[in-house]
Parts: sequence; C-alpha cells; structure tokens
Amino acid sequence: MTAIYIVLSLGVLVGLYFILPYWPRNYLRRKFLRAIKESGFVCLTFDDGPNPESTPEILDLLEELDVKATFFLTGRNIQKHPELYQDIIKHDHEVGEHGYRHVHPWGCLPFSAVKDLIRGSTAIKEENRGKNSFWLRLPYGKLNLITLCYVLLYRRKLAFWNVDPRDYLPQTPEQLSASVLTHFKGGSVILLHETSLHTNESTKGNLVAIKMIVQEIQKRGYTFATVSQAIRE
Ligand SMILES: [Zn+2]
Repeated sequence: MTAIYIVLSLGVLVGLYFILPYWPRNYLRRKFLRAIKESGFVCLTFDDGPNPESTPEILDLLEELDVKATFFLTGRNIQKHPELYQDIIKHDHEVGEHGYRHVHPWGCLPFSAVKDLIRGSTAIKEENRGKNSFWLRLPYGKLNLITLCYVLLYRRKLAFWNVDPRDYLPQTPEQLSASVLTHFKGGSVILLHETSLHTNESTKGNLVAIKMIVQEIQKRGYTFATVSQAIRE
C-alpha cells in the first residue's frame, strides 16, 4: 500500500513539474504569435551568440540587406565577447535573453534552470547600463514548474517562433531557404542559430541561405522588423 502511495505521489509530482507548464506555455506562445501575425512583420531571430565566428558576418549581411533582427544571447557568451554585444546594439538590432549557460529546464535540478535565467538576465543588465532586456527566449523553448513561476511572478515576456528550418542540420542553401519559404505565411518569427552559421561549410555556410530567404520574402512584399517593433506596431 505504501509503495503504491509513493508511486502515485511521485507521478503527481512529475506531472506537476513537467506537464503543468505545458498549458500556460502554449497560451503565451499563441498570444505572442497572434500579435506577430497581426503586425504582418517578419522577425529574423538569431539564438545562442554572440560568437566571433558568426556575429560579425551576420551583422555585415544584415547591413547589406538593410534588415534589423533580434539576437537572443546567452549570458556566458556576452561575458566572453562584450564587444560583439555592443556591435549588435550599435547596428540597431534588438537583444533578448537566452539564459546564461543555455541549460535544458528538464535536465537539471529544479532551481538550476531558474538560476541560469537570472544569471543570463544579469549579464545583459551589466552590458546594458543596468537596464533589463525586454524579451526572454527560453532555452529549447521549454519550462519546468519553477521556471514557470519565475516567468509569471516577474512578468517576463516570452518570445517564441513559428518557422524553424532546423538550420543546425546539414542542408544546402536551397534546402534551407525552401524549408523557411514553404512554411512562411507573413507575420512570422524565423528561428536561426548563430552556432549553425558554418554547419554547411561545403555550401559556404548558411549565410547564402539567409540572403536567399530575406530577398525572397522582401520580393513577396513583406517587411522585416525586430520583435519589439513588430509587437509595438
Ligand atoms: Zn538556444
């Protein structure tokens, strides 16, 4: 009887910890994406930087294309490359938080994930004259019960995405751009990773694909904006 009681209690705890955050996360995701869709803007987002092997190349390309993007940066990389953080800001792109060490909230101790989010927030604040960044993109887009409480208590604004071409997989620029363009319907947030920029080395990395994607979307009459610009509009 005691064993059944323990198993049931554990089941309830696991359910609360992993499954309960599913509904509020989906509600916040739908609300965020609805606002982006209504704006009609397209947001290009780059996760996991800054990185000396990708950030300068991305900034050059965005300048050439005259596009403003949103960079979700990890605190650890900001502290390693504060000059790149400043370069992103100087080019009038938006910066958002993405944790400190990019830990998965299901793969660590209950409070570690929330501590990681707070450390990521502090790293940005230190580079941003004491000001918080507005948006938080959750590492892996996931919450546990403790990080859910943090998000709700501190009223953190979560930034999601609805176009994920999985740019970390080996694919040609044509395949990568087709993967974005077939799912693209306007009012979208495209998820890309700085760390994947050179995944497809044989095809000059993903830079070629990003250029193709941006030019085709602009040709279809859409305008790119940062996440805050899109939501504000
Ligand atoms: Zn990430």
